Amino acid sequence: MYGVVEGTGFEVFDPAFEACLIGHARVERLWTGARWSEGPAWFPAGRYLVWSDIPNNRMLRWDETDGSVSVFRQPSNNSNGHTVDAQGRLVSCEHLTRRVTRTEHDGSITVIADRFEGKRLNSPNDVVVKSDGSIWFTDPSYGILIDYEGERAESEIGACHVYRVCPSGDIAIVADDYLKPNGLAFSPDESLLYIADTGATHAPEGPRHIRRHTVGSDGTLGGGEVFAECTNGLFDGFRLDRDGRIWTSAADGVHCIDPTGKLIGKILIPEIVANVCFGGPKRNRLFICGTTSLYSVFLSVNGAR
Ligand code: MG
Repeated sequence: MYGVVEGTGFEVFDPAFEACLIGHARVERLWTGARWSEGPAWFPAGRYLVWSDIPNNRMLRWDETDGSVSVFRQPSNNSNGHTVDAQGRLVSCEHLTRRVTRTEHDGSITVIADRFEGKRLNSPNDVVVKSDGSIWFTDPSYGILIDYEGERAESEIGACHVYRVCPSGDIAIVADDYLKPNGLAFSPDESLLYIADTGATHAPEGPRHIRRHTVGSDGTLGGGEVFAECTNGLFDGFRLDRDGRIWTSAADGVHCIDPTGKLIGKILIPEIVANVCFGGPKRNRLFICGTTSLYSVFLSVNGAR
């Protein structure tokens, strides 16, 4: 389990990436046994990580105190991406039920969004919460295209958008020019929103990049230029550190991209990576969902809140 895991390592393209690493820290494989790991979310109060095993219709929990892994929720409605809001509550994307939910402190489930203008969402994929309490999520069609990670169905909306739900419950489209919007995350000061487009999964020349938007005070997005192209596979989920670097999933591991869009280094993982999150009491441990396994590595940098 611990020690040097075959196929892991680091590729340094810029000294700035070496400065993010701890000389002797190695990638650890914490657990294996999933079909498609996604959506890691760290719970500081409980010192555990929750993530999705989408095809197995379950959510798993890795406990920092003893390294054990147990089932957090099953069935999970083929949950995908998760995040933890400022109150410490789990916010989840569910493919099967085509909705975004929040798990309250008492364990009850609140539906955040399941429709737009009366039409069912496709299959919410990834979610972040802004400091003002608004919930932002992407809605590609991966959960309704086939039965493997959800249930095959026609798209009622007929397109794949990015949405914002205000604390009042009002839902709005914030981006409507994506083919398959996927991972998303704010810059540390929330002035920028990065969104991945994985359209290349179903269009030969489709997008495989992250775009960068400015965030207006009224919650509308500006900009939207391509920020970084994926050089190996696709960018799926990603998170930022406090200094604004992006740590993003790719086919060969985790790519680290600086705020100018330059790929400065990679954490090599021997399985396709779908998503990452920072965790641990100091948020200096990167948790990596790589297909069948959960990996982690300690870094010299800290995740953005
Ligand atoms: Mg995703």
